[in-house]
Amino acid sequence: MTTKERYAGILGWFREQMPAVESELHYRSPFELLVAVLLSAQCTDRRVNLTTPALFEAFPTPQAMAAASPEEIYPYIRSISYPNSKARHLAAMARMLCGEFGGEVPRDLDQLQRLPGVGRKTANVLGAVLWGREVMPVDTHVFRVSERLGLTTGSKTPLRTEQTLERNIPGPLLPLAHHWLLLHGRYVCTARAPRCEACGLAPWCRKRADDLRRAVSGAEEGRASAPRRRSGSVARRRPRRDGGDETGR
Ligand code: SF4
Repeated sequence: MTTKERYAGILGWFREQMPAVESELHYRSPFELLVAVLLSAQCTDRRVNLTTPALFEAFPTPQAMAAASPEEIYPYIRSISYPNSKARHLAAMARMLCGEFGGEVPRDLDQLQRLPGVGRKTANVLGAVLWGREVMPVDTHVFRVSERLGLTTGSKTPLRTEQTLERNIPGPLLPLAHHWLLLHGRYVCTARAPRCEACGLAPWCRKRADDLRRAVSGAEEGRASAPRRRSGSVARRRPRRDGGDETGR
């Protein structure tokens, strides 16, 4: 299968099976999505969604959050991974948002990355989700699934994966494709136990093809190395000096 055929098959399947997908994070404004994505690093969306309602009630605007100290933010996010550093990032991010951007989340992805706690992936998520920018945010799921499927080959970094996917997936489809790959990694092609038997992408998946090839060649090797016995015959026993034989009988 060529790379082109693989991309076409996978994107076609997603388009048919998951025509409309969106972020599982709950938010009502760019500011809330920014906060939610920042909190979601190394944490599940579900846990973030349980946490943000009280956080947004206490700090409903960038201005309210900018006026708070990390210590005041911490109690609201203590159940989330890395609460100390995330509380520091939220306070500093809100202050910069108010000080340099008039309290508005900047649409320029480079400017976005200047905010404390905001890296390339977070900026791309905001760009893709809020403004339909033709970018591919690569998180751990997108990175893993792309490599297993064969959309990337030997990619060592999220940036390399991002560049490969952006080169091969039509621009307008990128924001959707991000959700497709992410959700597939979260619910089907999980890190520890991919559900290959139930996976609709199996016909195009490189890992699945490799696994099946290995299983077939393993079975053939097993058959080839098995001792040949005629039916009803008994393995020939070489006599031992002590009168027994090599079978120990
Ligand atoms: S066939 Fe298996 S490895 Fe391939 S994408 Fe599906 S779940 Fe992942």
